[in-house]
Amino acid sequence: MNAKESAVQHTPMMQQYLRIKALHPDMLVLYRMGDFYELFFDDAVRAARMLGITLTSRGKSAGQAIRMAGVPYHALEQYLARLIKLGESVAICEQIGDPATSKGPVERKVTRIVTPGTLTDSALMNDTREVALVALQVAGDTVGLAWLSLASGRFRVLETSKHRLDAELERLQPAELVVPDDLQITLPASLPLKRLGSFQFEHNGAARELARQFQTRDLAGFGCDGLPLAIGAAGALLAYVRHAQQGALPHITGLSVERQEDFVLMDAATRCNLEITRTLRGDPEPTLLSVLNSTVTSMGARALHHWLHHPLRDRQILRARQSCVAELLETTANVLGASRYTAVQTLLREWADVERITTRIALRTARPRDLSGLRDTLAGLAALEDALGFAEAAHLQQLRDALRPRPATFDLLAGMLQDEPATNLRDGGVIRDGFDVELDELRGIQTNCGEFLLALEARERTRTGIANLRVEYNRVHGFYIEVSQGQVDKVPDDYRRRQTLKNAERYITPELKTFEDKALSAGERSLAREKFLYEQLLDALLSHTPHLHQLARAAAELDVLACFAASAQRHNLHQPRFIDDECIYAVAGRHLVVENQVGNFIANDTDMSRSRQLLLITGPNMGGKSTYMRQVAQIVLLAHTGCFVPAENVEIGPVDQIFTRIGASDDLAGGRSTFMVEMTEAANILHNATSQSLVLIDEIGRGTSTFDGLALAYAIARHLAEMTRSYTLFATHYFELTRLNAELPNIANVHLDAIEHKDRIVFLHKLESGPANQSYGLQVASLAGVPKSVIRAAKKHLIFLEQQSVNRGGSQADLFADAPSGISTATVLHPALEALNEIEPDELSPKEALESLYRLKRLSVE
Ligand code: ADP
Repeated sequence: MNAKESAVQHTPMMQQYLRIKALHPDMLVLYRMGDFYELFFDDAVRAARMLGITLTSRGKSAGQAIRMAGVPYHALEQYLARLIKLGESVAICEQIGDPATSKGPVERKVTRIVTPGTLTDSALMNDTREVALVALQVAGDTVGLAWLSLASGRFRVLETSKHRLDAELERLQPAELVVPDDLQITLPASLPLKRLGSFQFEHNGAARELARQFQTRDLAGFGCDGLPLAIGAAGALLAYVRHAQQGALPHITGLSVERQEDFVLMDAATRCNLEITRTLRGDPEPTLLSVLNSTVTSMGARALHHWLHHPLRDRQILRARQSCVAELLETTANVLGASRYTAVQTLLREWADVERITTRIALRTARPRDLSGLRDTLAGLAALEDALGFAEAAHLQQLRDALRPRPATFDLLAGMLQDEPATNLRDGGVIRDGFDVELDELRGIQTNCGEFLLALEARERTRTGIANLRVEYNRVHGFYIEVSQGQVDKVPDDYRRRQTLKNAERYITPELKTFEDKALSAGERSLAREKFLYEQLLDALLSHTPHLHQLARAAAELDVLACFAASAQRHNLHQPRFIDDECIYAVAGRHLVVENQVGNFIANDTDMSRSRQLLLITGPNMGGKSTYMRQVAQIVLLAHTGCFVPAENVEIGPVDQIFTRIGASDDLAGGRSTFMVEMTEAANILHNATSQSLVLIDEIGRGTSTFDGLALAYAIARHLAEMTRSYTLFATHYFELTRLNAELPNIANVHLDAIEHKDRIVFLHKLESGPANQSYGLQVASLAGVPKSVIRAAKKHLIFLEQQSVNRGGSQADLFADAPSGISTATVLHPALEALNEIEPDELSPKEALESLYRLKRLSVE
């Protein structure tokens, strides 16, 4: 059903629905009807499929059956959470008119829009991940990107070249992406996409809107001159969020420019391959994050996630972080043997999510428990300041200053809020007794109700002489004085009859009526008063939000630094040194995740310098090549977050990027074969790696014929050693490549050792210099359970192939060297097959056939 179809033929209610739907064409509209939120037409079909709710069809409008599906109003949040997870956006349309007085359908309005990228509601969000809304536009080879975390107010812009777009999207992990409607490039299908008119991305209009939001004259102070595409994207993003939030966004007070030079860049494949925050299968553990994470607040967990994906190049910041970690690791004098970070963690563990609460204050959606959580957190600041009293590191002192107690905010909250406020404002019981005279009075009426009635009853009994007179209340008739039929003649004149029962009469007096009016309205009025005061509290808190955000940022950082200290102790990490020479040295390096999984991890050294710039790594499958390469990358990555690293005496020269080409997988969705994926990644590396890049290449050239693969691997290794001169770890099964170091002095051979023991293989996982002497492929296959008969056949064939190679006078590499422009790929047949080819069955006598068979059998086992 097209909402734009002539609405005239529809019922009035459907006309109303279609009008609202037309304003939100790309969202599911949940339309309130009584106790349900209903979806209609195509929305109903989609929601029924996604949520597994029943699709019905009710009545007709404009001659068509109306398809319909609904969810009960009290279960809304739970259904919303599921829809958002599926990347859907939802507009919630409430009844705002009064059904009693409405002519036609009750007035309805969209009161809330929920989209995956603009969440701020705690019930719908993951505590440990930031939700990023990203907008982008492309012109020529440049991409302008803007991203916002609405829940924290962080707003960034960046311009980069088109080939880095995938990498940026992998880094930012957008929950939702806003693009111009005429954008031509292909984007990952899994991303929820919102298309806006391309005029919204226009630079001048966007700059004006942004300046209006930030209440500045222009954007001069934000350092974003010369980034017109990014500013255009930021403007579109802001317009989109305003539409979704339907209100002011006072916590978005500026934006900052990200510069690629600030970070050790990683491409999309590298983020996946290093299993930083997600395993290759997409699980949250075991990953670097899961092993390292001992943060105690959600803010810290989010910051750690962010830091691991944003390794910094600024060594001053890194050294500052390192000195904090070092100080937090020191043991305190007063608690036996405990390190300082434990005290800090104990205090931070009590913290509420100040960052998100502050945003909800700004958006006026903070709930009473948010505010009491904030108050209790503020109450703990003095203790945290004390605990940080030792701080000598300048950066730790800065954090301590940012975490100073904030009496003004605390007093405001403590003065107004009950100790344990109700969860919902609508239930009352949020504002403290004694804060507001009017509220106290209204509450007094409610609580004193019982006393007043007892007193009245006693007085009336005396006045009338009716001993069994009772003052009571029911919901239908309100307050009344009940007198049994036998006593009715004693009733005074000012009693007005309210109701007659079989055995009694019920009366009301002017005094009781006045009390009734007061008491009945007191409940409602006290709730309204509380709501009013609560709004005032939110207003008053608004001016505190910049400080609160600052507090949240400092707490998040302190939490991560304490986590680094805890990890350093738990995983035996050491402080790396940043030096200017181009090298990566590490003694006894480990891979944190693998180490956690195997009982006895073998530590290995790394020695890469200008003269050993490309390490060619050989060794059997399962020997530990990938683990070793990744551990080096992991050490470099961790060092650039400020964390200590799983190795000793680490020295790292300048690093600008980390690249990986690891593993083989088809990109079926993208229509690329394994080999194509491999070559695309290789191309990216060859184009972009510099002499300061760390490059990990695991088995290049496997997805094609042996000679093709070998030739490519050879040329790629040469290029990396000779042209880009990157720090390269190059694992390969092509033994022929191990001769490369004779040609190029900056290539060194290393191997992961294994020994054969009684026909079995034992992996030593120890990195040794020089090439491996064999690949143990068959032993590993045997270990993997390949049937014995197949292994036996393979052994025979291997001997034959090796024989052939010797007969031809050299290895494949030599062939390659002899014939660089045209590698022979003629296949050599097994002698048994050659003999079989020569046989003409029709010309054989039975005896000759039998003899041939014996001969073939003999040849086949040679
Ligand atoms: P390769 O890349 O050579 O095939 P991997 O690096 O994948 O080998 O390692 C295979 C397995 O060997 C790992 O899953 C791990 O269990 C074990 N392993 C690797 N390196 C080590 C090590 N240094 N110490 C102990 N076990 C290791």
